[in-house]
Amino acid sequence: MEKILAVNAGSSSLKFQLLLMPLEKVITEGLIEKIGSEQAIYTIKYEGEKHKKILPVCDHAKAVSILLEDIIKRNIVSSLEEIKGIGHRIVQGGWYFQDSALIDEDVLNKIEELSTLAPLHNPAHIVGIKAFQAVLPNTKAVAVFDTSFHQTMKQDTFMYATPYEWYTKHKIRKYGAHGTSHKYVSMLCAEVMGKKSEDLKIITCHLGNGASIAAVKGGVCIDTSMGLTPLEGIPMGTRSGNIDPAVIEFISEKENLGIQEILSILNHKSGYLGVSGVSNDSREIEDGALAGNERCNLALEIQFKRIADYIGSYYVSMSGLDALVFTAGIGENSSYAREKICERLSVLGVELDEEANKSRGEVKLISKPESKVKVYIIPTNEELMIARDVIRLTK
Ligand code: ADP
Repeated sequence: MEKILAVNAGSSSLKFQLLLMPLEKVITEGLIEKIGSEQAIYTIKYEGEKHKKILPVCDHAKAVSILLEDIIKRNIVSSLEEIKGIGHRIVQGGWYFQDSALIDEDVLNKIEELSTLAPLHNPAHIVGIKAFQAVLPNTKAVAVFDTSFHQTMKQDTFMYATPYEWYTKHKIRKYGAHGTSHKYVSMLCAEVMGKKSEDLKIITCHLGNGASIAAVKGGVCIDTSMGLTPLEGIPMGTRSGNIDPAVIEFISEKENLGIQEILSILNHKSGYLGVSGVSNDSREIEDGALAGNERCNLALEIQFKRIADYIGSYYVSMSGLDALVFTAGIGENSSYAREKICERLSVLGVELDEEANKSRGEVKLISKPESKVKVYIIPTNEELMIARDVIRLTK
């Protein structure tokens, strides 16, 4: 058995999970938020108990040392040598990475180069990787990219119909996101169905605060809803998803806003939050809608319609559909969202089982036996995928 650390470093946060592999058991998990502040929040869950502490954490290196000292102090590991590998989640792997990669100088340089495509994320990942390298210089580390799974998209799918030079010169194209999640749930879906992925057409709906959909045919991704950035696709908690790009100039003139400000609004003040004016959280929006708040209802219906539209489009791209999978915070927990989306899919022969659809957070078949398309809830587990890749690539 080996202990593997899965890490997700953001600009001011560091999430971690320590797993016992190949048993695939979570030993401990937690996160450090508000890195860079005097009042950072450190949370760790161990043996069923949650511990929380407010403390000053000046940077990621400090966050890493706090975490590693704490897991020794709590006897979670007796020495740091017990950590046999580290997996880092990386948002943007661009055109370089079709698979996860063992981190060396070259891989680090490429992640750095790709920062132009993910300016908020990749630099934070590099800081995280270097912080661990400084403390654990001999421990192998693997980069697991959110984009890798989508690298199988064909050119007619990943290209935008913009001047070709935008692609050749600036690499503007669709890259997608949440790839680790789409891959995990589509693989597990095939397993649960007792079939080979090669024989299946699956659509995976990762519906969390960020949300994307993927079409997986024969085990490979053929299309996904997010694009050059996570702003493309379906409306989300605070993101607009697709809009007419001309809206940007129009609103710029009307409200005297710069491009940065508008993009910030499209990323952080749109979606559920923007339409409802109430919240970015699906639970509050659902409660609002059920209590008769029209704008909450509208925020949901706009999203459900767009999700159904994507599913219809992927049905055409794949010439059929065997299974539809719901995952992430909303997909795993909201019976309401699943019901309303599936209602819009009756033309495809989707028939949801009302009773089974009451389930949440567990692998479950929720369609009726006569449904032409099987519908599943499959909880995602990106950390597990990361740990599996660390094992695979460090052997
Ligand atoms: P992200 O990882 O993108 O931040 P999550 O996958 O955690 O997002 O999903 C967050 C969303 O899931 C929120 O809109 C939240 O309301 C919804 N969600 C989480 N838990 C539940 C639940 N138990 N019931 C309904 N919705 C939930």
